[in-house]
Amino acid sequence: MVFYKRRRQSMLLRGLLRAAGGLDRIGLLEALARARRWLPRRSLVVLNYHRVLAAEPELDEGVVSATPQEFDDQMRLIARVGTCISLSRLIRVLRGEAALPDNAIMVTFDDGYADNFTAALPALLRHGVRATFFIATGFIETGRLPWWDRASYVIKRAQVSRLELSYPVRLSLPLTSAADRRRARRTILRVIKQVQGTDLERFLDRLQAAAGVSIDESALARGLFMTWDQIAQIRDTGMDIGAHTHTHRVLQTLPEQEARRELSLSAQILTQRLGIVPRAIAYPVGFPLSPTSSLRRLLQEAGYEVGFTFMPGFICPPPWGPPVDRFNLPRLSVDRSASHAGSRFKLALMAPPCLL
Ligand SMILES: [Zn+2]
Repeated sequence: MVFYKRRRQSMLLRGLLRAAGGLDRIGLLEALARARRWLPRRSLVVLNYHRVLAAEPELDEGVVSATPQEFDDQMRLIARVGTCISLSRLIRVLRGEAALPDNAIMVTFDDGYADNFTAALPALLRHGVRATFFIATGFIETGRLPWWDRASYVIKRAQVSRLELSYPVRLSLPLTSAADRRRARRTILRVIKQVQGTDLERFLDRLQAAAGVSIDESALARGLFMTWDQIAQIRDTGMDIGAHTHTHRVLQTLPEQEARRELSLSAQILTQRLGIVPRAIAYPVGFPLSPTSSLRRLLQEAGYEVGFTFMPGFICPPPWGPPVDRFNLPRLSVDRSASHAGSRFKLALMAPPCLL
């Protein structure tokens, strides 16, 4: 899940994207992206994907990053214009032990959906693109649905014209049109992402009761996420595996003890199941950490060396840029529902500051 993807676009960015769309229609934008080879940049763009899926899912459509065809085209372009680096290379760069190659790119996946294995992995291997997969361990072979999929499913099928909720905040949300339901989904997800200390099961149970929807969670979850065997196969192709907590709660909304458990349990399970000690984590929903956040200490205690956010931007380490905060690494989210999604992707490869 990503927080920043629907941020307000500035007038400048909207104008730029319109112009880029015009260039894209006549094939010039891809040509300019490919010209990056001759204009090397000493910076790293980290792209993030969630699901690679052709059809609209019956669960949350907000996490579909690309269709398999779009993803294949994007990996083909990445292989032509950039140099994909591994997680361990990034860590060496941040320690000052290695340099970034020209036009460095990292491709990352969050959550661990099964289509990462069935649809994305073949394209990655076809184009020689190395990627990092951040796994939320609580969804792997457990029959549990992520909270965003569960909430989206319930709101799509709600039997009432108005959703009335009193926990953890009072909400009264009309559901009489498709636009109402989209707004209600955004509001419900915002509550989960931002309200401190919510008992999530209690909230989701009340949401289902208020909507008049019952769900068979294990049936809906069947085949939705990768199996441990599939994740091990991804590891064996040379791709990197990182952590994404256990239950995908927003760390900043949890009491310290629960945040500590989310960070350490996911690392323990990845170590037990895959024989790897995860060095990197992608924060669920991607809020950056404040300079004084106690999460920094918890991350170090759990053994993480770097942490990825959804703060937009790119990584330009010294001597070309200022010191990098290794627990606040920026990423650009690939979102097929964003306006001018295709042009936006090509612009990201050419000129990341344009997307800030
Ligand atoms: Zn996620």
